[in-house]
Amino acid sequence: MAELDIHQIPVLSDNYVYLARCRATGMTAVVDPAVAAPVLAEAERLGWTITHILNTHHHGDHVGGNKEIMAATGCTVVGPRADRERIPGISVEVDEGDVYRLGECEAKVFFVPGHTRGHIAYWFADSNALFCGDTLFALGCGRLFEGTPEQMWGSLSKLRGLPPETRVYCAHEYTQANARFALSVDGDNAQLKARAAEIDETRAAGRPTVPSTLGVELATNPFLRADDPALAAAVGRQGGDAVEVFAEVRHRKDVF
Ligand code: ZN
Ligand code: FE
Repeated sequence: MAELDIHQIPVLSDNYVYLARCRATGMTAVVDPAVAAPVLAEAERLGWTITHILNTHHHGDHVGGNKEIMAATGCTVVGPRADRERIPGISVEVDEGDVYRLGECEAKVFFVPGHTRGHIAYWFADSNALFCGDTLFALGCGRLFEGTPEQMWGSLSKLRGLPPETRVYCAHEYTQANARFALSVDGDNAQLKARAAEIDETRAAGRPTVPSTLGVELATNPFLRADDPALAAAVGRQGGDAVEVFAEVRHRKDVF
């Protein structure tokens, strides 16, 4: 099975757009193009020909460049079936359990509602790459605009089961602020403290903290650890179930 080459493009204030190219065929997808111009310019500079757009959800900072990139390249837009009427230019609809092939690279699709009601994620197992939009962030998770804590916990639980070496290509550079919040609910976590210090250094040097790996997230991201009794106790929900603890952690982040 072929692997992807992945190129990260920072756009707007804190978005990441990804170019993902199948090494065997040269087919190249743009994941969540917030805007068009810098993406087209980077593809040209790299000599990569954009053939697809992969959208995770309908928010403007993920689909804003769809129409212009389609017009410039004639590419195919792939997105969530549940949100087809909100994805500009969509012609391939995918859903939970589907396998989408970009050239010879296979992506398994997960339906991960919570941030929005139609959100999906793309997992390229052979490249250890997860494109998860605004569902899972480095040390965080997306706000619940259209879903319930139960849905989001279910969605994060799906992603949590992937191999620990999976690289988490999320759509925003929110990590430093997320670290401050994570420390407020999990301040005794030595791995988290070390990671927070590392994140400060990385950002001070102007470098991205994304991608992280799922293994690191499992050890340090409070939103993936709602079933940990120590975290439940730390947020005053001793004995509470994971959904209840997750809801409390999410609420605390919303007002942090
Ligand atoms: Zn979003
Ligand atoms: Fe976003």
